[in-house]
Amino acid sequence: MSPEEEKALLSEEDALSARPVQIVVAHEDDHAFELDEAALERILLQEHVRDLNVVVVSVAGAFRKGKSFLLDFMLRFMYNQTSCSWLGGHEEPLTGFTWRGGCERETTGILAWSDVFVVDKPDGSRVAVLLIDTQGAFDSQSTIKDCATLFALSTMTSSVQVYNLSQNVQEDDLQHLQVCVCMRTLMFLIRDWSYPYEHPYGLDGGKSFLEKRLQVKQNQHEELQNVRKHIHSCFSNIGCFLLPHPGLKVATNPNFDGRLTDIDDDFKTELVNLVPILLSPKNLVEKEIGGSKVTCRDLVQYFKAYMKIYQG
Ligand code: GDP
Ligand code: MG
Repeated sequence: MSPEEEKALLSEEDALSARPVQIVVAHEDDHAFELDEAALERILLQEHVRDLNVVVVSVAGAFRKGKSFLLDFMLRFMYNQTSCSWLGGHEEPLTGFTWRGGCERETTGILAWSDVFVVDKPDGSRVAVLLIDTQGAFDSQSTIKDCATLFALSTMTSSVQVYNLSQNVQEDDLQHLQVCVCMRTLMFLIRDWSYPYEHPYGLDGGKSFLEKRLQVKQNQHEELQNVRKHIHSCFSNIGCFLLPHPGLKVATNPNFDGRLTDIDDDFKTELVNLVPILLSPKNLVEKEIGGSKVTCRDLVQYFKAYMKIYQG
């Protein structure tokens, strides 16, 4: 078989079995990052998407904070764009990014969904949508720099970065944003929000909460002030969404398989608000670099270039 034929066959297999594919691996022992160029190319150079402008939506954050769970609902939305019941059937187990979650050791790095979605925007343009999952041990001290690097890498290659955090925004969480360069959209997503009487669930509550948290105050330590100023200068569009706790079955039952009947109503209500904010055709934000939109094909090159920078 020629390399071309082999490649075609592989992409055919990919199309048949959509799944998360590891594109960046972080080796924790020697703090090195490695890009799986072949895997990235198999995804982004598929004929039907490679010349379309790309929208890259990334969900980043520590392990076991519900990223895959959210991404699986984002997938349901993407696969059922035209249906108002995209959330799924009541007894339907959730699949997607969680697909091989249980049995494999969790690796720090960046995963991409192998299916790139083609969407027609209301302005008549057609875009390709890539979903990525950036995961790291954001909470362990020794790896703060690695995670900041990983976070920067996924931020630079995405057009919308969803920063998935549990319960609150801590000072450490903000420090991870220090490495970031200018970008368009950053969305803080706070899971298990438990002060809805102070700031209500959703986007408006998130806005008032984040404004308070990102405020630069005179009596603040200089370092804290600088982190805040940096974040404000980096992202032209910063949002925050407060998501309620999904209920005890989701959080603690080992047999929970993602079915809607086991998820609290408040959570589902907010999920139905959140996902279209990120993914409905009119809200899709195309990736831009230096003020120009980039195609899937361009993105492959940018990925390679950014990897070189971070490999030092
Ligand atoms: P990931 O490692 O960040 O991708 O996290 P997962 O999506 O695999 O979820 C880890 C665990 O948290 C699973 O048992 C989920 O059922 C549960 N989970 C999912 N979403 C939430 C949430 O919003 N809050 C809480 N407390 N648990 C969640
Ligand atoms: Mg996960």
